[in-house]
Amino acid sequence: MSLIPPHSLVTEFLAQEQIASFIGGTWYSSKSTIPVIDPTSGEVVASVASAEASTVDQAMQAADKAFPEWAAMPVSERAALLKRFADLIRENLETLAQLESIDVGKPIENSRGFDIPFGADCFDYFANLSNEAEYTVPLEVNDIDAHVQRKPYGVCGFIFPWNFPFTLFCWGTAPALAAGNTVVVKASEVTPLATLYLGNLIKEAGIPDGVINIYTGEGRACGQPLAEHSLLKHMSFTGSPQIGKLIGKICGEHLVPCKLELGGKGAALVTQDADLQAAAEGLAGAITLNTGQVCCTATRWFVHSSVLDTFTQLVRAELEKTAIGSSMDEKTQMGPLVSETQYDRVNDYYKKGIAEGAKVVVPLTTPTTTNNAGYFIKPHLLTGDEDNICYREEIFGPTAYIVPFEEEENAIDRINRLSYGLANSVWSKDLDRATDLAGKLIAGNSWINAHNVFAYGLPYGGVNLSGLGGGVNSPETFYSYLRNQTIARPL
Ligand code: NAD
Repeated sequence: MSLIPPHSLVTEFLAQEQIASFIGGTWYSSKSTIPVIDPTSGEVVASVASAEASTVDQAMQAADKAFPEWAAMPVSERAALLKRFADLIRENLETLAQLESIDVGKPIENSRGFDIPFGADCFDYFANLSNEAEYTVPLEVNDIDAHVQRKPYGVCGFIFPWNFPFTLFCWGTAPALAAGNTVVVKASEVTPLATLYLGNLIKEAGIPDGVINIYTGEGRACGQPLAEHSLLKHMSFTGSPQIGKLIGKICGEHLVPCKLELGGKGAALVTQDADLQAAAEGLAGAITLNTGQVCCTATRWFVHSSVLDTFTQLVRAELEKTAIGSSMDEKTQMGPLVSETQYDRVNDYYKKGIAEGAKVVVPLTTPTTTNNAGYFIKPHLLTGDEDNICYREEIFGPTAYIVPFEEEENAIDRINRLSYGLANSVWSKDLDRATDLAGKLIAGNSWINAHNVFAYGLPYGGVNLSGLGGGVNSPETFYSYLRNQTIARPL
């Protein structure tokens, strides 16, 4: 094990008495703080200001005040500021990647290679889209001269979860900002570090004060007041279906447009003619990525019974090879779970699932963990009935539930029976058949011969219990942050 040395800016940032909220371009401390724990060691590494309803109000006022100037700014000027912000994120890649890895427990190579740079690219993508977008759309209507003007809403609220805090911040706020809205962000209280660090870069980029406001704290204390605030014009929530329903209800009462990006229980369909080695690598990679704490991962594996044994052996070999260790070790492929709470939750699911009759088909024999004191867990593969809790519920750990099948159509029916609808994958060498099967799986995303396919321009979102009114990373997302106003004159 060789750990990378912490960047001096990381040490300096974490050493603050409290990492304050970033509101109206100024750092504000709070009366109370929340400890931030490194899941690799289980030790407290920083304290962050715990926001209250008054902090939320302050942030909303700041965003509301900044809105007219930001909305009226020439699009090219606004886009240039967002691109400058993206450049600064790239220039500070090492600092941000280390903060993200210390906070979430994700391997440093993942933060360096994906979370931070892909997040930065999001600001470029939406800045470019904003430059190309049509803000006035002429209408062809008899006897009326009319057009539609597309305008930003105003203050947009965002509540984010702990698993991909940095990337989700970028996916969420970039389209809203590029469209001319101002934003108030409630970062996860479990993993707020890299998001709060952005306050420094927002200032350096020259983005006007109040355009981006960031705080963290306990959900009920400072998430709910955001959704309930009278200045809120648009809401976006990413997290569990349970809290998503609550946010949706609040927004319904206030008639505020609401976008929900929620949990999943994705399936993989491994057909008889699949490239089994590729499927084993792809799916072992899917459940170990971010220690399985990925909303769109595949956790129900439907495998044709004729290839079940071979496939299971191949997956076991892949999992045995996975290097589990400290998030700050460049060789680590899977870090710890994010927190003690999550560690207890995942273990509790295993216990309940096994008590309900699930069998463990892949317990790893190789000692893959390091001697760290943190929240480490080995990947597990289970099998059993489809009424088992581990089959039905989102566990959010490095695990999958294997189900053999004989007929593809029957497997599709069974996959579609759960009300989640985020992401599935089909594994087959016959691309026409794979495309046909992928289209039959009810979800926001169906991937072929891969799991977790992300790019800007590729819409991503959920249906049913996995989400509502949303999606990210596409032109539609950008336009969803513009309201339509019809201007008409009888001729
Ligand atoms: P969570 O729902 O517990 O918390 C999400 C956020 O909501 C946190 O910031 C939390 O503080 C806040 N919150 C909690 N109670 C609140 C309340 N009463 N009012 C307002 N805000 C409140 O989710 P989590 O445990 O942080 O994240 C895991 C979940 O997120 C999983 O279900 C996962 O699938 C989902 N997720 C979905 C996507 C997606 O794009 N669909 C992406 C990442 C994570």
